Amino acid sequence: MRQRLAELRGPAAPVPLDARALAALAANPGCHRRALLDGAGVDKGALARALGAPAAFGQSQFAFVRGHSFEARVKADGGAELIRLLHERLADGTPVPGPDDVDVPDLSAAGPEGRTARTALALREATAAGRWALLDHPLLALTVGGTPAYLEPDAVVVHPDGGWTVVEIKSFAMIDGAADSAKVGAAARQAAVYVLALEGVAEHAAEHAAVRHRALLVCPRNFSNVPAAALVDVRKQLSTTRRQLARLTQVADLAAALPEGTTFDLCLADDGRTATRPEKELAAAVDAVAAAYAPECLAACELAFHCRARAREADAVQALGRAVRSELGSLTTVESVLAAARGEAGDPGDPTVAALRRAQALRAEALAGAACR
Ligand code: SF4
Repeated sequence: MRQRLAELRGPAAPVPLDARALAALAANPGCHRRALLDGAGVDKGALARALGAPAAFGQSQFAFVRGHSFEARVKADGGAELIRLLHERLADGTPVPGPDDVDVPDLSAAGPEGRTARTALALREATAAGRWALLDHPLLALTVGGTPAYLEPDAVVVHPDGGWTVVEIKSFAMIDGAADSAKVGAAARQAAVYVLALEGVAEHAAEHAAVRHRALLVCPRNFSNVPAAALVDVRKQLSTTRRQLARLTQVADLAAALPEGTTFDLCLADDGRTATRPEKELAAAVDAVAAAYAPECLAACELAFHCRARAREADAVQALGRAVRSELGSLTTVESVLAAARGEAGDPGDPTVAALRRAQALRAEALAGAACR
């Protein structure tokens, strides 16, 4: 399988999967296109640019600097403030830990393998010590499709009872204890990926080591620089991520189903020199793999503009959003929906068709009323 995926990608180095990519995969489990391209390590950003549909991704410099200064503030005083926030959320009646009660192990080591081994050792030692410990930017490994993906959570806290909590520090605001649900959902999916990777480490740690399934989300309170925290249950995201990552092993089937000669290699060997592969050829390769476009892709996938254009060309109702799509049952194109509403097509016994006709009649009635006034 590795060989076939490497052929699809071409000679470029594979783009490693990170927690954000794995979380995005879990968010759109029906998309074979993303699963195959990520499984093959294709640079989707470069591919989108070659297709003439680049996505504007990433943070502004201002947001980046602000995010860093907020994270530094949250982790100040040897992690005492962060542990205090977690302790406050747990509300378990145990004494509030002070700065001297928190260990912050040194996690530096050479290379990703060295850093993951150092993290695993620090987790085991902190668990055995039975004290609070803050692991700042540990490195975890998760095997995905046969290759290790290296993941770096903002922090992991070890509790005196051997519990491990993933900490996600985000720069979006928490207003009156609530934050944007889409952003919280994305953070929860990312935390679930870290929980999954941590579970692999916990298997080889002390018996009482247990990865907690509630992650601590820390955000600025009401646009200030003061941290507010909430525990987010990630069990649902965890099972979705597990399922989706298991499906990545089926990437081999997706690759095998592609027409002979399909490649996502952006370069074309040309008499010893290299030239860019024609856009049409790349588009045909991308379109040979089924996609499941939804407007949410715009915030999560580099190929979103290409897939949206294709969905619009196909007049697909997916472009209107998952909620609308699920309401429309067997009507898969905007034209078929309009025809059903006008009474020109569709089974009148179908509840979706009946609802559309009722809505069309109400609209006509409202417009007639407005014209008479
Ligand atoms: S943008 Fe396209 S490839 Fe990416 S997840 Fe959405 S449908 Fe799949």
